[in-house]
Amino acid sequence: MIRLALVGLGKIARDQHLPSIAHTAGIELVAVASRNAALEGVACFLDLAALLASGMAVDAVALCTPPQGRHALAAAAIAAGCHVLLEKPPGIGVAEITPLVEAAALGGRTLFATWHSRFAPAVEPARRILAGRRILSARVTWKEDVRVWHPGQQWIWEPGGLGVFDPGINALSILTAILPRPVFLTAAELSFPANRAAPIAAELAFSDAHGARIEAAFDWRQTGPQSWDIEVEAEGVTLALSEGGRTLTQDGRLRLDAPSAEYDAIYRRFVELVETDASDVDLTPLVHVADAFMLGRRCVVEDFADS
Ligand code: NAP
Repeated sequence: MIRLALVGLGKIARDQHLPSIAHTAGIELVAVASRNAALEGVACFLDLAALLASGMAVDAVALCTPPQGRHALAAAAIAAGCHVLLEKPPGIGVAEITPLVEAAALGGRTLFATWHSRFAPAVEPARRILAGRRILSARVTWKEDVRVWHPGQQWIWEPGGLGVFDPGINALSILTAILPRPVFLTAAELSFPANRAAPIAAELAFSDAHGARIEAAFDWRQTGPQSWDIEVEAEGVTLALSEGGRTLTQDGRLRLDAPSAEYDAIYRRFVELVETDASDVDLTPLVHVADAFMLGRRCVVEDFADS
């Protein structure tokens, strides 16, 4: 039984991690480290440092804090001999992950950089259908209302918080899982509110070795119906993943419509990784976001007010 401590008892920890840990065989929650929140029935600490200093027996930590500061937490946990599960995105930059991978390997610990959207039910069937095919075009539409999904989250607007790429990277995690060949960014336009350090919208263009035309539109100003859709036109088949990968349509016919149990699958995978002394760290979605910040033309748009 893996004795797990959860760090950062915020929205995703309460909505998804706690129920999924409870559903998963082989792992049990024994502690929480959070500055402003506690949980009945487990040991509670103000932060990870206090937990590690307490000498309490913990085998693994799940880091559910914002990405800023996650590197230091992960490094401390690995140094203390813990396996580490990272919420997405795995860090505030690409390079800071490599030392964590090395430290985990040296210490014989598991490092799992999770991409929850890759566990959506349509992703694996879509990957199988597209395997070996030439991609002609793809269109990603990821448009949601930031006031509904991220109310009051100041960290998300700060450097390293990624702004609209916080949800957008979920789309990129699906896209890079289902396409048979690597893609690369060719152009981007990022819209920054004048009063914020992170973008509220982004338009991206990608291609691949065969010249596929791939576009992505991320926007946090969407009111009314929300869109988490990916359409792919490949040789001989057209696919549409909608609702964040919950449904799959093939050549216009609904093929799959299943409830999402992404975090149950994440914790099953974590247990499997720990049991097999393995790690799972794929930085590809983060690399594309880094490229967007490097290549993207920056536009300034109107101020954003939370309410
Ligand atoms: P959140 O609601 O703000 O929760 C994060 C928690 O981390 C806070 O409640 C806070 O608890 C703790 N924390 C530690 N240092 C912090 C700091 N410097 N600033 C703010 N909080 C700090 O955020 P969240 O939505 O759960 O997201 C956390 C991570 O999960 C992000 O990387 C996000 O991309 C990812 N994620 C979120 C969702 C979602 O739907 N919200 C979905 C999938 C993944 P204390 O104040 O008690 O320490």
